[in-house]
This record gives sequence, C-alpha cells and structure tokens, in this order.
Amino acid sequence: MPVFPSILYRNQYYFGQQNNKINNPGFDMRMTREEERLIRHGIIITVDENDTIYEDGALLIRGDRIADIGSDRELADKYSSVEAVIDASRKAVIPGLINTHIHSGLIRGTAEDLTLFEWLSKHVDPMHKALREEEAYGAARLCYAECLKSGTTCVMDMYRYMHRCGDAAEELGNRVILAPYVADKPGYDYFETMEANERLIRERNNTADGRVKVWVGLEHLVYCTEDAFKEAVRLAEKYDTGIHTHGEESFEMALRLTHHYGRRPTRVFFDYGILGPRAVLAHCVQVTPEEIDIIARTGTGVAHCPCSNMKLASGAAPIPAFLERGVNVGLGTDGVKENNNLDIFEEMKFASLMQKLHRLDATSMDAATTFRMATIGGARALGMDDEIGSLEVGKKADLVLVNLSALHTTPIMGGKYFNAVAHLVFAANGADVERVFVDGRPVVVDGELITASEEEIITRAQADADRLFERREPLVPDSVSIDQVEL
Ligand SMILES: [Zn+2]
Repeated sequence: MPVFPSILYRNQYYFGQQNNKINNPGFDMRMTREEERLIRHGIIITVDENDTIYEDGALLIRGDRIADIGSDRELADKYSSVEAVIDASRKAVIPGLINTHIHSGLIRGTAEDLTLFEWLSKHVDPMHKALREEEAYGAARLCYAECLKSGTTCVMDMYRYMHRCGDAAEELGNRVILAPYVADKPGYDYFETMEANERLIRERNNTADGRVKVWVGLEHLVYCTEDAFKEAVRLAEKYDTGIHTHGEESFEMALRLTHHYGRRPTRVFFDYGILGPRAVLAHCVQVTPEEIDIIARTGTGVAHCPCSNMKLASGAAPIPAFLERGVNVGLGTDGVKENNNLDIFEEMKFASLMQKLHRLDATSMDAATTFRMATIGGARALGMDDEIGSLEVGKKADLVLVNLSALHTTPIMGGKYFNAVAHLVFAANGADVERVFVDGRPVVVDGELITASEEEIITRAQADADRLFERREPLVPDSVSIDQVEL
C-alpha cells in the first residue's frame, strides 16, 4: 500500500500551533473556490438515503463542498493530480455532528444533584441576572471550541447577548443557530427581549458565509406570555426563520402547566401557533400520545437530550414513538450546567442505552438509528438537511475524521462484522476526533483547534467565571420551592 503523509498542505489556510494567529481572530478563513483536498482510505459513513458505507473510501473536498465520494480505488485514479491528500486509514469519515440544543455557559459542575427547581432558582436564574456581555462571549468560545474538538460542527445555542456568540462562531469556524433566551413574564426582565431577538435576526442571520443563523428563541411557557409566542410566530414568518423553545421535561411542571392552562403544554404551543416544520422543541419528555400526535402532524422537530433528562431525573422521552411517527429528532447535550459536557458521542451512547433500559428491550435504538439522529436527523430538525447532515456530493464539506485505532476501538472489522458505526456510538468519544472541516476549511487538525488558542480560551473563561460567580453571590435566594414559581 502506498504511504501517504498524514496531510500535505499547499496553501496558506493551515495555521499550526506555532503560527496560530491567536490575537487576530478575524483572519481570512476563506478558501478559493477551486481548492481541493482528497481524503483517502477512510471508512466513510455517508448517512445518505441508502446508508451507503465505503469501507475503503475516498472523498474529494472542493472549496466549501463535497465534490466527489466513492471507493478509494476509483477516486485515487480520478484525482491523482490533487496535491493535498489526507490519509484516513483506520479512521471513520463522518458528517459533522449536529447538536440541536445547547446553552453556552460558565457554571459547569457547580450545581449538582439538585431538583430541577432548586437548580433553576438558586443557580441558573441568578446567573442570568449577573451575566454580562463579555462573559457570554467567553462562554460561547469555550463551548464552541469544545464542540468542534469533539466533532460537532453545528450547534443550536440558546443563550444571552448572542451577537457575541455570533462573534465567537465567526472566529472559531463552527456553524451555529443563535436562539436567544427571550422571556417577558414579570420578574424575568433580565432575559432577552423580542426586540433584541428581531435586531439579531436583522443583523446576523445568514452571516459568516451562512454559518451563523438566527432563530426566534423562547425560554419556556413558564417564562413567556402568549404575546411573546405570537410575536415569535410573526417574526419567524417575516424573516423566514425558525422558532426554538423548551418542551416539557419534568413530570411535576407538566402537571402544573396542564392544570394552569386547562390543557397539555404542547396543546398550548399548538394554540399559540408556534408548531410546524420551522419549530424545534427541546426535550419533550413528558408528553401524552395526543401531544406526540400534535408534534408529528405539525412536522415539529424535537431536540432529544438524554443525559440532561437523566441527570435532572426528568424521564425517558418517547423517542421510538416519535421516530415511528416520522418526527425529525436530533440529539442535544443541553448546556454544560446540566450535562456536563458537550460530547455528542456520549450523547449517542446514552440515547441508545436509555431506551434499552427504559423499554427493557435490547433491540431498541440500535447504533445506526442513533447515529442518524446525531447527523441527518438533527439536520432535518433544523431544516438544514439540503446542506449538511450527510456526506453527499454537493453538500457542504462539514466532516469529521475519527481515529478508530485506539485500544477502545480495536478491532476494526469489515464485511458482515462491520463495526465502525457501533464503535462510534458505543465505544468512541470526542477525544478520538482527529480532524474537523467546516465549509471545507480545516478547524481541527491532529486533535487541535487551529482557529484559536485553546489555552487562551480556557484562561479567559476561567477569569470570566470567577467574575460571574462573585457578582452572582448576593443574588442567590435562601430557599425555593416549585410552589413559588408563578405561571
Ligand atoms: Zn435547555
């Protein structure tokens, strides 16, 4: 077998650790339209309509797109003149993973083993009151860098001061949908407003070569009035964009909301007019068959966050039932305050194991189904499946090389014992990611982020967190209970 150097760069777009332009985040990341890279000898898992797999495959990136894909033998002859060749032997080549629900943040690991309402009232809400713009930027950089390094190329982020989150994504090179935490009920005026959300859509939607998109965000039924939901529908229609909010997580809150509104929370969403193909609800754990039916009939997407749902003891969302009804379900980690990492590989494993345990059925949520959820399922839920979510000619070159030659991913088998998808779902983790491309541009090389200095991101986030905690301390209430939450 010919020996390929691990990568041959012939252009100025590779910034190694030594010459990383860390103090110049606005450096030019554009590629020329004709620039080509050939990935060879990879185990290519396309997640196309036929779930095509090339056990010894090759893929050609031209500019920001996937220009060709097939067996290595075929493509090596066809593109023998391409100079930039990446050897992907013993690596999986997969679509960039999609995280359909995160909250950037800085309070990771500081509010553990609590009930949902103690956690929200004593930790999360006071943090929102104390949060400042520059800390939101530090948090977004921290979280997007973690996502990229673990193979996630596209995230839906619900957070605050999101123009700064857009700046972070522009700089780091990931794809992001910004869905601000809008709240308008009395007492929540420290959240974002619909006016700010509209301004963000006008200023930032489809910027950074389309990598930054803006949706309308709504915190939750508890935080938002009917007016806010109706305004969200108006804005989504006016700007042809999406709506993201939280569906029901906890059994107790779903009951309280049902009592308060006289109907189930999903029915309230339906009556407010927010459901449809341009809407994504996070969680949807506590849903009745009628609510599953509403979500399916309206074409609403679901962001499934199994780790968060287990950690906050919310329950097992009825994902097999959603999939049977044709609902577009993507995977989400939720924020670092409820997960506590943003590793979609872990999320895949938990998504599968949770259903097997919950249903006492080992055939439930098999590896291929789970992997689709983390890729094309997420893309469909976000309405971006014509551009991302699978490796197909003409789609954006958002792709990831995962090293499968580690102890925990050996052996690699082919033919009838083909096991790469099982490795990705059950054995691998984000640290196995070697290379990441977004829009055809390398953003992670040899496991290192090359668009910013990881060290600088960590140092800054630490300082941001220290300041944030200091300012939050006087805002923390002494005692809380779910009965104090006004609906
Ligand atoms: Zn959430």
